[in-house]
Amino acid sequence: MLDVLIIGGGSAGLSAAIYACRAKLKSLVLEKEYMGLGQIADSERVENYPALYGISGYDLAFKFHEHAEKVGACFKENEAVKIEKNKDKITWKVTLDSGETIDTKTIVYCAGTYRRRLNIKGEKEFSARGISYCAICDGAFYKDKNVAVIGGGDTALTDAIYLSKIAKLIFIIHRRGELRANKTLQKKVEETENIKLILNSTPIEFFGDKMLSGIKYIQNSEEKSIDISGSFTAIGSIPNIDILKGIAELDEKGYVIADETGVTSAKGIFVAGDVRTKALRQVITATADGANCIESVINFLKYN
Ligand SMILES: Cc1cc2nc3c(=O)[nH]c(=O)nc-3n(C[C@H](O)[C@H](O)[C@H](O)COP(=O)(O)OP(=O)(O)OC[C@H]3O[C@@H](n4cnc5c(N)ncnc54)[C@H](O)[C@@H]3O)c2cc1C
Repeated sequence: MLDVLIIGGGSAGLSAAIYACRAKLKSLVLEKEYMGLGQIADSERVENYPALYGISGYDLAFKFHEHAEKVGACFKENEAVKIEKNKDKITWKVTLDSGETIDTKTIVYCAGTYRRRLNIKGEKEFSARGISYCAICDGAFYKDKNVAVIGGGDTALTDAIYLSKIAKLIFIIHRRGELRANKTLQKKVEETENIKLILNSTPIEFFGDKMLSGIKYIQNSEEKSIDISGSFTAIGSIPNIDILKGIAELDEKGYVIADETGVTSAKGIFVAGDVRTKALRQVITATADGANCIESVINFLKYN
């Protein structure tokens, strides 16, 4: 029986692992992706994590992982697919995709988020045939080609700036008249010659033959289209909470309700990182959450 099972090996999970190991808790980090390091590994450059200005997201996440390993963290590559109470009604049983089960006194749930889909015609058909949700992962396929980035927030502009060094032209398609991203990113986009803005525009259809060749959108009530070989959707995120449904209380957007202590409505389950209700979803808040959660776990184990 574990003291704590950490579900998710991103920034929050790795920070929780470091604090759990230093507290000598019997712990395990479960991560579903091969070599998964969480979403920050998809970022080309991180400029807001203290002391490591300009580090690549992958290098930052790898450093977290190395640190966790150094203090003795144990990892398992598999997906948690079910969480239920054990017969004692106190401890938890977590079932993995492999069918294996893990018994644990507490869970720190740090499963993060995934990118929202547009749900328009052609999206499923051309997914992985030109449509991507990760510029860092797939950008290299579009050398000297024209691509679109859908969205107007930090992630969309970060993706566009990254792609501007690979692709020929990048069209940012955004439904509002102005971008939502921070001013630093907006300035970088303005200064980048091969990024073009298509504002007040709502995508309605992806088209092509076997591979994506264009996107249709409505701009000021008029249907228009552009030819593109690739499209990167960055219109927000959805929390990974399927296995917590009916177990812990969620807010109307599906985030697990918890403050910085990570305490949820389910006794013995704590949440850290992007998956919980909070104002700022960043690496620095995710790592802080991981640390705070382990403090909550220690207190919980003392009295339960
Ligand atoms: C393109 C991009 C750029 C960004 N740039 C910055 C930046 O410059 N600075 C900054 O501070 N933040 C940035 N962020 C935000 C930052 O990445 C997140 O705030 C941070 O990664 C949250 O960490 P997390 O551990 O909560 O979640 P995640 O990093 O999403 O990690 C969750 C992990 O849980 C795993 N998982 C999910 N479900 C299961 C399951 N059932 N079983 C096992 N494992 C599971 C996932 O595979 C994943 O590895 C950026 C995000 C993106 C997408």
